[in-house]
Amino acid sequence: MTKKVAIIGSGFSSLSAACYLAQAGYKVTVYEKNNTLGGRCRQFIKEGFTFDIGPSWYWMPDIFDKFFADFGKKRSDYYTLDKLSPAYKIFFADDVITVGDSMEKICVEFERIEKGSAKHLRKFISQAQENYDIAINKVVLRPGISPFELVTPETVTRVDQFFKTISGQVRKRFKNPKLVSTLEFPVLFLGAKPSKTPSFYSFMNYADFGLGTWHPRGGMYEIVKAMQALALELNVTIKTNSAVEKIVVNQGKTTGIQVKGNRIDTDYVLSGADYHHSETLLDASYRQYSEAYWAKKTFAPSSLLFYIGFEKKLKNIEHHNLFFDTNFERHAAEIYDAPQWPTDPLFYVNFPSVTDASMAPEGCETGFFLVPIAPDLEDTPELRNQYLELILARFEERTDQEVKNSIIFKESFCVNDFVEEYNSYKGNAYGMANTLLQTAFLRPSLKSKKVKNLFFTGQLTVPGPGVPPSLISGKLVAELIVKNT
Ligand SMILES: Cc1cc2nc3c(=O)[nH]c(=O)nc-3n(C[C@H](O)[C@H](O)[C@H](O)COP(=O)(O)OP(=O)(O)OC[C@H]3O[C@@H](n4cnc5c(N)ncnc54)[C@H](O)[C@@H]3O)c2cc1C
Repeated sequence: MTKKVAIIGSGFSSLSAACYLAQAGYKVTVYEKNNTLGGRCRQFIKEGFTFDIGPSWYWMPDIFDKFFADFGKKRSDYYTLDKLSPAYKIFFADDVITVGDSMEKICVEFERIEKGSAKHLRKFISQAQENYDIAINKVVLRPGISPFELVTPETVTRVDQFFKTISGQVRKRFKNPKLVSTLEFPVLFLGAKPSKTPSFYSFMNYADFGLGTWHPRGGMYEIVKAMQALALELNVTIKTNSAVEKIVVNQGKTTGIQVKGNRIDTDYVLSGADYHHSETLLDASYRQYSEAYWAKKTFAPSSLLFYIGFEKKLKNIEHHNLFFDTNFERHAAEIYDAPQWPTDPLFYVNFPSVTDASMAPEGCETGFFLVPIAPDLEDTPELRNQYLELILARFEERTDQEVKNSIIFKESFCVNDFVEEYNSYKGNAYGMANTLLQTAFLRPSLKSKKVKNLFFTGQLTVPGPGVPPSLISGKLVAELIVKNT
């Protein structure tokens, strides 16, 4: 008899799992509390401006391609991908580093900053490439059940890389602080400080310099549309505006969910909502992790975000722009060590309309500003405005132009919205960090240890934060459910 699976949430991991389970013959229904799909990757359209609400960096194109290939499809059946050239720009207080779209161009830029650094860079990236092959083709494809999953002939010879940090390895090879920040930037996607991230994760540097930065024409939401189309082709049923209120357990086994007060029977429940929230849908005795457990974990930052429509084209900018013109260590300490609103924050600005005319009206610019902050901070309109003023002033100074008087509209999103919109623990933006003690089998489990037929997926479980890992997480949990049947 066909087994039924109810999936909570419609983020990338949920949509990925939905497709794999439907392909394996299950009757899959996705229940999403919001009115559109995609989880943290939603779209906001206003007055002809198109914004991606969450993720904006398309890295690791091979993982997306593999996902579609698993269903006999090509990514290009659904959306067009452009390689960005340059990939991005980093503004420092006294210089600007442009990261090109090839190792050759990046080496020239490194040599300009530090003589002799290109040779070290090539070696570093070649080692990062080896780690990428091991991580992506072997380690992350394991479900995080046992420590032995990390033991492969390749990782055994690299054990030291799990105990050294990315920060230490970069500083050993490069002296110039701007090059150090450039090479430490990619692991920020993993949610922890580079000084707390194992050097094995240098594979993120290969993802950056080796594989490049891409843009789906029309924005990141095109990926969600593609996955939704694929899910529908596979006969997945999708229900929006359907918050799951309870996971029903009968004698230690889940037998259903509750939506809008109605009981819905199912054989399996898979939650792709924030793990902490998912467990609150269970009676306390069925939860695996206590509040004390979650409180001790290192969470990825939250973010203060602004979506701004500008009535003119801006100058001296690229599609992706990092403002690393203040003290990186102090901002990191204000996120992780002594959580507080940052004194002088680093920030990121995305202008998709620089390379994709469909994202803004003619002669205008679509701007997405992001300030990483500690989760759980007080979030008020006054604080949001104060930081908007601060970053716009710095943006104007660094890019040498006036922009404040060209704002048509601005919207913001911060800690309270992450909680309200996604049931996010403490308003985290992108899950639980990948530190040494929060890697693989040390992360919250894909399979409930207390309730039969209950599974979890997404950025708080394996392999971790980011869109590509979420696609993989969905695949891993689907395989576990199939094995369990
Ligand atoms: C601002 C920002 C920038 C980012 N930038 C990047 C980037 O550039 N590149 C990158 O690769 N990654 C980036 N990320 C990370 C990436 O977006 C996430 O890791 C990924 O989208 C998480 O997917 P997920 O499957 O874990 O689920 P989520 O996206 O968290 O989705 C969970 C879903 O569950 C729903 N839900 C919650 N509770 C319930 C309930 N009770 N009933 C029904 N539904 C429920 C929520 O509404 C949500 O839709 C960024 C994230 C943010 C927030």
